[in-house]
Amino acid sequence: MEKDSKRIAEILVGLSGINLIGVEDNAGEPLRIHIECRGMRPLCPSCGGTVHQNGLRIVELVDLPAFGRNASIIWHKRRWRCALKERPQPSFSDADPRIAPSRLRLTDRPGRWANKESGAHSNAKSWMGAGWKVSARILRKSSTSTSTNK
Ligand SMILES: [Zn+2]
Repeated sequence: MEKDSKRIAEILVGLSGINLIGVEDNAGEPLRIHIECRGMRPLCPSCGGTVHQNGLRIVELVDLPAFGRNASIIWHKRRWRCALKERPQPSFSDADPRIAPSRLRLTDRPGRWANKESGAHSNAKSWMGAGWKVSARILRKSSTSTSTNK
């Protein structure tokens, strides 16, 4: 059993190298899980030099449901600015494709889940067909039992 609070947060969120900042639990709304990267200060992608932190960018990402509720990851991305004053470079923010592909409003998890599910059911048509047969059988059974109960 894991007892380290940082590791427990990583296990529950399903991501390593993150800090769980907090959770918003408002009735009738998705769980909003606030995270930040725990990674080291990156190097400037333009010149390879040092960078300074330049604020935060908050990004909300739709995630798979968790604990029976819809869930969003609220990623507090650190913004970075090149330390070179004579040649200012564009600022950039934390990026981690394990959390979400850049510029998407969806975490990486729903895509991986969809790939796994489509792999488990060799083609989507037969998967949907199997589901439809089950649904039709349940409908027939429930309509039969309804008519016999009258
Ligand atoms: Zn630079």
